[in-house]
Amino acid sequence: VAKPAELLSVAEARRRILATIHRLPEEMVNLEHCLGRVLARPVHASLPIPPFANSSMDGFAVVAADTQSAAPGSPVRLRIVEHVAAGQVSGHPIHTGEAARIMTGAPLPTGADTVVPFEDVTEHGDMLTVSSPLRAGACVREAGQDIAAGETVLPAGEMLLAPQIGLLAAVGIAEVSVVRRPVVAILSTGDELVAPGQPLAPGQIYNSNTPMLRAAVESAGGEPRPIPPARDDPAALAAALEQARGADLLVTSGGASVGDYDYVKTVLSGAGDIDFWRVRLRPGKPLVFGLIGDLPLIGLPGNPTSALVTFEEFVRPALRCFLGASLLRPEIEVIVDEEIDNRGGRETYFRVTLRQEGGAFHARLAGPQDSAMLHTLARAEGLLVVAADQPSLQPGDRAVVQVWQLPPAPYPEG
Ligand code: AMP
Ligand code: MG
Repeated sequence: VAKPAELLSVAEARRRILATIHRLPEEMVNLEHCLGRVLARPVHASLPIPPFANSSMDGFAVVAADTQSAAPGSPVRLRIVEHVAAGQVSGHPIHTGEAARIMTGAPLPTGADTVVPFEDVTEHGDMLTVSSPLRAGACVREAGQDIAAGETVLPAGEMLLAPQIGLLAAVGIAEVSVVRRPVVAILSTGDELVAPGQPLAPGQIYNSNTPMLRAAVESAGGEPRPIPPARDDPAALAAALEQARGADLLVTSGGASVGDYDYVKTVLSGAGDIDFWRVRLRPGKPLVFGLIGDLPLIGLPGNPTSALVTFEEFVRPALRCFLGASLLRPEIEVIVDEEIDNRGGRETYFRVTLRQEGGAFHARLAGPQDSAMLHTLARAEGLLVVAADQPSLQPGDRAVVQVWQLPPAPYPEG
């Protein structure tokens, strides 16, 4: 039996997986379908934003110099000679002593350099009264003040969410070049597995890993390709592996440990090459990694918690590598609120809940840490990482949490 110190560290195991993975080619996608996709190349603005100087308020476009002598006792009077709405272009230049009624977003008429909001003036027929001096340029958005023409607006590797999609649209882009989504074949193994919705015979359980991993792949930017579960039999497993052909990555669950019917390693060493088996982490020690031709196979343990934790630590980074995007979940420093025992000499990923108090995050165990327990997993807001050589944490100690989800804000009053 391998001692913990002889096992591969998490960092080394991850490095060996990532060394086999290259960014995928790009494809063009319409803006309507690019949510969550990753830019394959930087995007440059072909025009300035805003494209023309325009008003940031509903008010009057004026010449600021005209207002320099204005005071409450001696206001300046200007003649309203033009109306401009958003989408219109004024044909009437503004001369000294004149003003144009202008709406937010409308182009500033030539000659005007400033906008005074409705609320700061009084209007009498076609005359306008200004009773304090205006700063030249006030309430005007200059052309290019947001984005200059030619500027790089988004770098390669950026994930496209609502703000980035808004920006692409603003510079007139209808299609973007994104990295192809990695196709991830998902294969659960086990004679005991039954699809949810089917009746359970004695000794059987529902296959929770396939739907869970499918969702995890999708939310990490991959394209899941579930394969029907394989029985614990080398021939059945070998046949199922065949169905992963053409995928970018094969993720299996179960059958990787030391049980009598754990055939993933056997079949992998027949069909391809094992790079490593077993990692110094908890949960998830019996992780296996290898290549079948050029198809990487990451064999996750069968226990659902072990499967998801090892997905997070090894598969998610691999997907991000395929995509050329940043690698990991956000990490925060937390104060530990209870004693956490980490004997056993392995890097441990505790499922925790988070709480914010006085500007600091606090973490507690989300429930029993048994790797078969799904309720703890479903309650968890992140993984608290404890180093292999740290046998315990005490209340008040600091630790790092990989965040899945922050606790929601309290419901607003009223
Ligand atoms: P194994 O790694 O195959 O020894 O499985 C470890 C534990 O995880 C056993 O209790 C299995 O029944 C369970 N398990 C394996 N695969 C799945 C799955 N797809 N869904 C739910 N539980 C599973
Ligand atoms: Mg099994």
